[in-house]
Amino acid sequence: MLRSVILAAARNKWVERRVETTPISRGLVRRFVAGTTTEDAVRTTQQLADDGLLISLDYLGEDTFNAAQAEHTKDEYLRLLSSLHAAKLTEAAEVSVKLTALGLLFDPEGAYVNAKEICDAAADAGTTVTVDMEDHTVTDSTLDIVNRLRVDHPKTGAVLQSYLRRTEADCKEFSGPGSRVRLCKGAYKEPESVAYQARLDVDRSYVRCINALMNGQGYPMLATHDPRLIEIGLDRAKWFDRSPDTYEFQMLFGIRPNEQKRLAADGHRVRVYVPYGDEWYGYLMRRLAERPANVGFFLKGVTGK
Ligand code: FAD
Repeated sequence: MLRSVILAAARNKWVERRVETTPISRGLVRRFVAGTTTEDAVRTTQQLADDGLLISLDYLGEDTFNAAQAEHTKDEYLRLLSSLHAAKLTEAAEVSVKLTALGLLFDPEGAYVNAKEICDAAADAGTTVTVDMEDHTVTDSTLDIVNRLRVDHPKTGAVLQSYLRRTEADCKEFSGPGSRVRLCKGAYKEPESVAYQARLDVDRSYVRCINALMNGQGYPMLATHDPRLIEIGLDRAKWFDRSPDTYEFQMLFGIRPNEQKRLAADGHRVRVYVPYGDEWYGYLMRRLAERPANVGFFLKGVTGK
């Protein structure tokens, strides 16, 4: 119930304006977001890389209907990739992009062209791109664009969400040689017609998807903080006889950082998803929806109590 209310608020412009103009606890935003500038992003990347972690950087923003904004987002990714290259960080760091920030909702072809430019720049810099997945209304258009990007850039990552009923089949389809697939539970409010609603069903689907990906020929990227699913991921990697360089774990910046370091110290590849930029509202609300304990923390920041 609380999750549904927060996720509805995540897409409400009135609530967004209020939250953004409230003296919200800076600590909470800082906990989940690396900063606002390219320099902040590169500095955080360097710190994580020094700890033996891999990174995927996300310039915050989504759902734009404004061509200039989409262009600005693309330009920021190009600037970021050039800065990562200059700092010799492209072995450790890749980027994650949201197609709705690049124009998918009003100009799908333009979004593809923007994403292609980012993938070209990433390849020149010696790294890769993963295309984030958003709500179910854009699943097909997003996967279509990922498939087009993979023609020139076969390592372009796709994201699949275990809460969607279709995802086990998508995992099988996307587990061919060379594919990179990030598997997550899914962060949006979705109707029962397309998505499992009970946690247990989402988790069971996640396990079936791990099996499909680990049994395939691609590179599974298990994005979860859930200790049980991480254990199952480790178990399946052994079961399917995978060496540690053929899969990775992924977690969000600011969530279970000790577990990130522990897995890396045990010899596993661990990638931290690092968001930065001013457009933190939707991202922060989805993080609050995932964990009611964070809401108390947030309200303390808003009310100053
Ligand atoms: P949960 O059951 O939510 O959490 C398991 C445990 O992790 C909790 O008990 C708690 O200990 C800890 N935890 C989880 N969330 C929080 C939090 N917010 N604050 C504090 N502790 C927490 N979703 C998409 O829809 N599209 C994407 O492209 C996408 N990309 C992602 C990339 C990465 C690297 C990660 C890690 C997640 C991504 N997500 C994406 C979000 C994902 O779908 C889930 O909403 C999110 O990861 C929470 O699910 P969980 O698997 O961690 O399990």
